[in-house]
Amino acid sequence: MSTKSLHPETIVLHSGEYRYDTTTNSVAVPIYQTTSYQFENTTHAGNLFALKELGNIYTRIMNPTNAVLEERITALEGGVASIAVSSGQAAVALSIQNLCTSGDNIVSSPHIYGGTWNLFSNTLKQFGIEVRYADPENPNSFGELTDNKTRAYFGETLPNPRLKVFPIEEVSKIGNKFNIPLILDNTASPITCKPINYGAAIVVHSLTKYIGGHGTSIGGIIVDSGKFDWVKNANRQPLFNQPDHSYHGAIWGTLVPEALGAPIAYAIRARVVLLRDLGSSISPTNSFNLIQGLETLPLRYRVHQSNAQKIADYLTNHPSITKVIYPSLFDGKDRELADKYLTTGYGPLLGFELKGGVEAGKKFIDNLKLIYHVANIGDARTLAIHPASTTHSQLSESDQLLAGVTPGYIRISAGLEHIEDILSDIEQSLENV
Ligand code: PLP
Repeated sequence: MSTKSLHPETIVLHSGEYRYDTTTNSVAVPIYQTTSYQFENTTHAGNLFALKELGNIYTRIMNPTNAVLEERITALEGGVASIAVSSGQAAVALSIQNLCTSGDNIVSSPHIYGGTWNLFSNTLKQFGIEVRYADPENPNSFGELTDNKTRAYFGETLPNPRLKVFPIEEVSKIGNKFNIPLILDNTASPITCKPINYGAAIVVHSLTKYIGGHGTSIGGIIVDSGKFDWVKNANRQPLFNQPDHSYHGAIWGTLVPEALGAPIAYAIRARVVLLRDLGSSISPTNSFNLIQGLETLPLRYRVHQSNAQKIADYLTNHPSITKVIYPSLFDGKDRELADKYLTTGYGPLLGFELKGGVEAGKKFIDNLKLIYHVANIGDARTLAIHPASTTHSQLSESDQLLAGVTPGYIRISAGLEHIEDILSDIEQSLENV
């Protein structure tokens, strides 16, 4: 179905090839819990393996339930193809492994999820891939850290705890000068931000969060915008310009088999090389669960955002609180970035600083009755955490401050409960801090 004129509410229900199951007429997306697929004959099998024809071979590489999830998210983000994978972490790791080998580097924002920080600073380093950290407040720093081994730029649209929006267009433009793609993790800001519209070449999500939305299933996805020119500068992207001996000497950047019909070089390589070799595939049952979440994402996200805004407004005037961190409350450049890139609301996450430091932070969490105390975001329920005593407790106080975690900082992921119930839980907890 053409998705050109459809709205997000419609895309998440209808986009892609699936309308109903042609064997049973089932409207709900079936869970195709199968590992493998019968080939019609040896010619058909040969064509599939040679990528002359696209079709199902083995669920490590593709699956019809996963395909529905992929096609709908592709349409939602305005890309040309997606690869659903086993987790958000797998999506981030594969998005980089699809471009880098040992000796290469990427330039990243330092304002990234802790798991991504560990991947970048330790595990990729062990693979011989260097991550250089730029300063998103000075987009030129991405260009300054670039050399002839730089393969990608990386950032998160709405990173917590600071919640300062990444300068997508500004960094993409610098990437264009060097022919370097921008990979953007859009986990916290689906619907409200479409990074591809501002020049991001690749978008990744942890589906575990807002897209799944119910805290039941881990998954991730990589979306290919189809807009990046992988062959313009052959030395810049060797993996797309040199023959791949693991795939009949294919040159991924120039391979446009008739069956592909779209500029999906990045996506196809990630699928048929990385999923084949590294095997971080998502289970069809998790894809089914995530599709259930996706189908109501636009509605839910609206409430996540409006509840976050109302909590931020309520806390702004509270005597126990020194500062509320929420994009609509920023001023200057930070507010300009939020207004430019967050188009339907300022996001579902907020933070605040309690006057009493660490002890007050711990007490606030322990007093909560309705709100859950978990290290997660994007559940239907409201979630809170005190990073200084949990997620960031291994960091020195000065490193915590660098990360934006002050001693009394609390992060809230606004859920879907009635706002009065959320506020009264926060109020009773604050009264007893
Ligand atoms: N990216 C961001 C922004 C996240 O918040 C997370 C998890 O919290 C991830 C990636 C990793 O996702 P997953 O837990 O699905 O592996």
